[in-house]
Order: sequence, then structure tokens, then C-alpha cells
Amino acid sequence: MKTDRSTEMFRVASQYMPGGVNSPVRAFKAVGGNPIFIKEAHGAKVIDVDGNAYIDYVGSWGPLILGHSHPQVVEAVCSMASRGTSFGAPCEAEIELASLICAAIPSMEMVRMVNSGTEAAMSAVRLARAYTGRDKIVKFEGCYHGHADSFLIKAGSGLLTSGVPTSPGVPASIGELTLIATYNDLESVIELFNEYGKEIAAVIVEPAAGNMGLVIPDYEFLDGLRQLTLKNGSLLIFDEVITGFRACYGGFQNIVGIRPDLTILGKIIGGGLPVGAYGGSREIMQRVSPQGDVYQAGTLSGNPLAMIAGVETLKILADDDWYDRLEVLTYYLTGKLKTIFENHGLLYEINRLASMFTVFFTEELVENYTAVLSCDTQKYGAFHQALLNEGVYFPPAQFETGFISCAHDMEDVNETAEAVDRALSIIQG
Ligand SMILES: *Cc1c(COP(=O)(O)O)cnc(C)c1O
Repeated sequence: MKTDRSTEMFRVASQYMPGGVNSPVRAFKAVGGNPIFIKEAHGAKVIDVDGNAYIDYVGSWGPLILGHSHPQVVEAVCSMASRGTSFGAPCEAEIELASLICAAIPSMEMVRMVNSGTEAAMSAVRLARAYTGRDKIVKFEGCYHGHADSFLIKAGSGLLTSGVPTSPGVPASIGELTLIATYNDLESVIELFNEYGKEIAAVIVEPAAGNMGLVIPDYEFLDGLRQLTLKNGSLLIFDEVITGFRACYGGFQNIVGIRPDLTILGKIIGGGLPVGAYGGSREIMQRVSPQGDVYQAGTLSGNPLAMIAGVETLKILADDDWYDRLEVLTYYLTGKLKTIFENHGLLYEINRLASMFTVFFTEELVENYTAVLSCDTQKYGAFHQALLNEGVYFPPAQFETGFISCAHDMEDVNETAEAVDRALSIIQG
């Protein structure tokens, strides 16, 4: 596949933007090769600046559950744009999106719109700290909640020590407020509560983990977090930026039947435009300014284009049996991939949930972060490059989740399976 124009654009982009990109994983550093520059995208396909088409399993990292440039979403955005792109004042579309979200996710009685998942997570933690009057939070290794200082933290050396920053620029004193626990390991959280119980404002967790590749939660783990936080007067925060409206029309919390105190949303609820949101019970959310004293604001928050794209997306999702179809198609694809990997005699593990999946290059069952780290990332990189060359765009990192959209069909999936077969033959020489 010829990608000369992408290569040239990457060279120029690198002169003006650090690493040539505006978000790190796009630079393909985890898989090797140069990123391809996208010219346009429709349905299940993205087209690069050299004119190559790829079946896309990234979906802009999750938002595009309807596929790229869905005609009804585009129409709604264009129609709104002709009336104004930003008002900096209340508009009706905000009520529409807020009411759709609160109706679909019962734990969210009130919601605040922001512009990204990062902003939502950061603001939810501020609110939890204000509400509980405590400073520490518990986060799980391998979970991602955006790039606010409090979340760029890993475990310190030694048991039960507080966290240390994973990035320069994050003060060590902030790291000390973030306690790190192990996903799917309730015992690790119990130990932290035994030590710091009365200092913990909140436990924040992805109810299904999508940022270390896909890792499926144990019900007992999530339920245990609910019991533990209730008992200790801490809040439970579900980060549903990926899982919100992904596995059903609502949160993953609707499926497991666990009611968190605060929920963070993003991605799908913005229909491909920049949106985040956080919400919870009326009692907690009333603390947010201007009703309450916890400050949080945004010039473009509740932006009419983003709101209308979200409203249109949710309406379409509510209108048909999309979630059933997505589930079947994902089941079908991962089934085919299993057969192909076995035929090639390769060690692999596939995790799948609703329309999310990850192919892990490992022989271990992947149920936690330690197992994730056992993956052969070099082999994944080679696979990714070979697959790209065959016209299929998988996530450019082993530890990211693949997504199937409503625009994917059997033909796409069959083509993908054939491309994977060829790519595996190539990397195995
Ligand atoms: C993507 C993501 C975020 C961050 O959202 P941005 O809009 O990229 O800031 C937060 N939490 C989870 C679970 C995510 O997947």
C-alpha cells in the first residue's frame, strides 16, 4: 500500500506539533511505522490522504458507535451550525441531551456537561473530595481516566504506599493522594481501606476496563467496591466514558445492577464531537456551582453542535435493536479470529464484551493488569503493520480496545478475517 503522502505529512506535522500529533497513541510509537493521515471517513471505513481505504476498528477511540459521518448526525450538526456554533448561553439541546442521559442511567439525576472525559473525571473527583471532605482517592492500575494530575500515578514501591507520578510535571504531593489498587482484586482495595478508610474520598473505576485492552470485570469485584465505599463513607465513581451507551442503551451499571454515586461519560454521548459529562444524585450534584460551592466552568461546555450530535446519536441508538446486532457481529468476528489464530499456531487470547474486543498476543487468560503485561507487544506491532497494509485499521497499540460500529456488516467482518489471515502469514514469514 502506498502511503507517501501520509509519510510526508507526518514529516511536516512533526515540525509544528510535538511528535507530529495532538494525542500520543496516534503516533504509532507502540506499533512502529508512521501514522496514516485520514482525509475522510464514512460508515465502517476511513480513507487516507493517499486514497487507501481501511476497515476501521478504532472508531475514533470509541465515540463512533454509529460509524463515521452518519448522515443523520451530520445533518443535525450542519443544521445547528447554520443557526450558530456556540452561544455561551443556555440552549435547548443541552436539556435534550441531559434528559436523555438521566432517563437512560437512573443513578444520574443531574448532570454537568464538559468538553472531554479528562475534564469530567477531574471535576468528578473534585466534587467527591468536596462532598466527603476527604482528599485521597483509589485508582486501579491499568485504568485510564484522562490525563489530569491525580490520575497519572502508579503504585510506589512497597505495599500500601501512596502513588508516584508517571509523568514529569505532576507534583509528588499530588501523587501521595492517589492510592493504587489492582483491578479485579477486591482484597487489594480492602487493604487500602483498612489502612486509610476514613481518608478516602472516592474509588474511581472503569466498570469494564477498556484502556489496558479490554478486561472483563468480576461482578463480585464491582459489588465489593460498592459495599466497601458505602461502609466507609466514600463515593464510588464509575468512569463510563467508554462503556456508557456501548453495551446497552445506558451505562454498564445498568447491566450489572450497581448504582455508583457519580458517573463519568464522554465519547459516545458526544456523537464524535468533543463532550464529557459527570453526574449523580441530586444531593451530590447540587454541590456543583452555581447551585453549590464546588467550582467548575467551561467556555464551550454544552456547546450546541456537540449537544445535538449527542442527542441525534442517542436517539438513533434507542430506535432499533442495534445492541443485539453489534453483539452478534462481534461474536462472529472474534469467532473467526480464534479459528485463524489457532490455524496459525499462535498464542493469543481474545476478550470480548458487547461490541468491544481485544486480541492479546499472550497465552495467559487476561483478567488483570499483570496478565496484560505478559503480551508480546512487538508481535502485536508487526501484526498491526501487516494488517494495515491489508486494509484493516486495528488500534495502534496492544493495550487498546477495538470497536465494531453499527456501520460494520458481515462483508466487512469477512474481509477483515481474510486480511488477518494474510497478515499472520506475513509476520510469521
Ligand atoms: C477516553 C477516556 C477518558 C478520557 O476522555 P478524553 O475525552 O480523551 O479526555 C477517560 N476515561 C476513560 C475510561 C476513557 O476511555
